[in-house]
Amino acid sequence: MTDQPQSLSYLSGVPVTRIPSIGEKRTAALSSIGINNILDLLTHYPRRYINRTRRVDLSDLRIGDEAAVFGEVEKITSRRSRQGKVIVEVTVSDEGGSFRVVFFNQGWRERQLPVGVQALFFGKVTDYKGKRQMTNPVVDVIVGASGEERDPSKVGRIVPIYAATGKAGLTSWEMGGFIDKALSGSRNMLDPLTEEERAQLGLVERREAYRQIHLPNDDSEEATGRKRLVFDEFLRLQLILALRRRRLESSSAGIRHDFDLAALDGSSGDALDDDSSLVRRFLTSHRYALTAAQRRVLEEIAKDMSSALPMHRLLQGDVGSGKTLVALTAMLAARDGGHQSVLMAPTEVLAEQHLASLRRDVSALSVKDDTVLGGERPVSVQVLTGRVKAKDRQAVLDGLLTGSVDIVVGTHALLSEGVRFQSLGLIVIDEQHRFGVEQRAVLRDEGRARSVAARDADLLVMTATPIPRTSAMVLFGDLDVSVIDEMPQGRLPIETEWAQSDEEIARCWQRVRDEVAAGRRAYVICPLVEGSEKVEATSAVEERTRLALNELRGLSVGLLHGQMKSQEKEEVMAQFRAGELDVLVATVVIEVGVDVAEASVIVIEDAWRFGLAQLHQLRGRVGRSDAQSYCYLRGTPPSEDGEVRLQALVETNDGFELAEVDLQLRREGTLLGARQQGRSDLKLASLKDDGDLLVSARAFATSLVERGGDALGDLIDELRLFVDSDEAAYLFRS
Ligand code: ADP
Ligand code: MG
Repeated sequence: MTDQPQSLSYLSGVPVTRIPSIGEKRTAALSSIGINNILDLLTHYPRRYINRTRRVDLSDLRIGDEAAVFGEVEKITSRRSRQGKVIVEVTVSDEGGSFRVVFFNQGWRERQLPVGVQALFFGKVTDYKGKRQMTNPVVDVIVGASGEERDPSKVGRIVPIYAATGKAGLTSWEMGGFIDKALSGSRNMLDPLTEEERAQLGLVERREAYRQIHLPNDDSEEATGRKRLVFDEFLRLQLILALRRRRLESSSAGIRHDFDLAALDGSSGDALDDDSSLVRRFLTSHRYALTAAQRRVLEEIAKDMSSALPMHRLLQGDVGSGKTLVALTAMLAARDGGHQSVLMAPTEVLAEQHLASLRRDVSALSVKDDTVLGGERPVSVQVLTGRVKAKDRQAVLDGLLTGSVDIVVGTHALLSEGVRFQSLGLIVIDEQHRFGVEQRAVLRDEGRARSVAARDADLLVMTATPIPRTSAMVLFGDLDVSVIDEMPQGRLPIETEWAQSDEEIARCWQRVRDEVAAGRRAYVICPLVEGSEKVEATSAVEERTRLALNELRGLSVGLLHGQMKSQEKEEVMAQFRAGELDVLVATVVIEVGVDVAEASVIVIEDAWRFGLAQLHQLRGRVGRSDAQSYCYLRGTPPSEDGEVRLQALVETNDGFELAEVDLQLRREGTLLGARQQGRSDLKLASLKDDGDLLVSARAFATSLVERGGDALGDLIDELRLFVDSDEAAYLFRS
């Protein structure tokens, strides 16, 4: 290896075959678990450690304990049960005694655990004829029966355990041996941080960190090694976001909107005249006064919109907190300067609903327009979805191009079908929490290309799936965040009950009947059927028939599911809104945004099949007026996770609290799965526990991008490992 300090990019170019003990067979085995080079080895972190000085002895084990026991295989036999199932029985011993391990249907264990193998067994200790036993435990082979690679004298008191590599035929012990060699081969590792920077941040050197995490001498070394490597992971991520931001800003051609900030303070006493802004006229005449939180976020939005840099803002607000009113005010502010707005919804049902409510809200407003008789016309709100007929569609497209349409509502298709604008000023995306960074970048570029004015529209992304601040910094690090943390006045918390017994279920249906009798309406949500909308629809049809004939006999029960035509869906929603239907049996198509104030009960069947965020969204379909609302969860979850979710829902109405629970249940991996990123870049970091490091990495990344310097060059070089080539070309071209 060279004299030049070794960068991560360099190490990723050194194949594992450079390590003498790794031949063809092991190269293939390692490759099968994604390890091809020295960097892969170094970042194959221990799954856990055994502290040899603090091991549980077999003799200390009690029945019912969950334990990890280290021992040597003394005897192994295999037989078949009368039903023909393979049963493998193992006797494991250490100095403290011996115990029995039984595997059902895992014949391969016989090959994995020959006599002499030393392994860790994780599981629950039970009693079998007076002897301690574990059934189907998790096994980590530490030392194989033969062919040890590692020099036992070099291993400290703390032994790293690597993820089960049983399938690849590698023991944790062998993995440790390869990693030892990878460590000795990379003594001259480059550290992009200077000694001074490290001291300031309280971090150890990079090479030392890799040593500490793989071969810690004590617990504190494991922690300091991990800290440095977690920082590096966050730093890379935040650098990408900071570079992306710089790129956006340097190439942007934003609009300085003429936002009437003074109109927000609610002094409705001010006399209106012909010159009053639309925003002022709207807010003065609207049936609700803004909540304090709505006003605050509008001030933040106004500031962004008035600046020459395009807005990139995420608006978080719990279900029912009134995000639509905020969006409409911002769209009217855009119109005040003569610019158009787009409101994009994830479903047609929601787009139609927005259309109806926006039209209602702006019905009294007019705008100046020299091209029409009298120089004035009503604010024009139009819709573009798949169901809009060709002729109407053409009219809307013409209006957008000439500027006679002010606001257009629609689904995703809005920006992908040759839609052109006179001057697009604002893009609002509603309820689209699964929108990735890349898609937002595309949207922005599209906006400019499709607008005759060729300027960058401001962007406002709205979500009711609140996520904790630290996660938001990772997922939406390129967005500024505003939060509506207050509900409109007079809202009562929704009473949520988990109905399981016959009695509770009877009460649930009685509640539906009572509420309908009192002039209100109900939703019944049918179970989610994974992967098949057709089956889901069928079951909804059956459920509706069943309910109409039994529990809800005598009520008018409608049906809404994803397989219905747009036209039908719209009619059903209109009937439900108008009160011609008392109950709507629906699949999750109503999950997002549907707003029918009179609906006061929602029954969710097989509730455990839905994710927590989704359940909270569903529940948010009720509780939209000052009447008391109710939510009934039905079904018995097959797992503990499911129980925790339902119980959390019963206990709180607060979306932010639920988001915390959700984060604890899900691994960060799933959360990051939402990012469309090539390579997994958070191997060690935990969004939940490492928030402080994330904050300092973000600050460091920002200052680094501002001041440039050697470290930036080195880091950009290693960022190439973590982003795909298109993205790299976009981010790093100077
Ligand atoms: P979400 O944030 O979930 O999108 P909506 O925008 O649909 O919520 O608003 C929920 C309900 O609250 C709507 O019926 C809306 O008319 C009403 N609302 C919005 N703002 C206010 C306010 N300031 N005062 C009273 N009601 C409001
Ligand atoms: Mg909404």
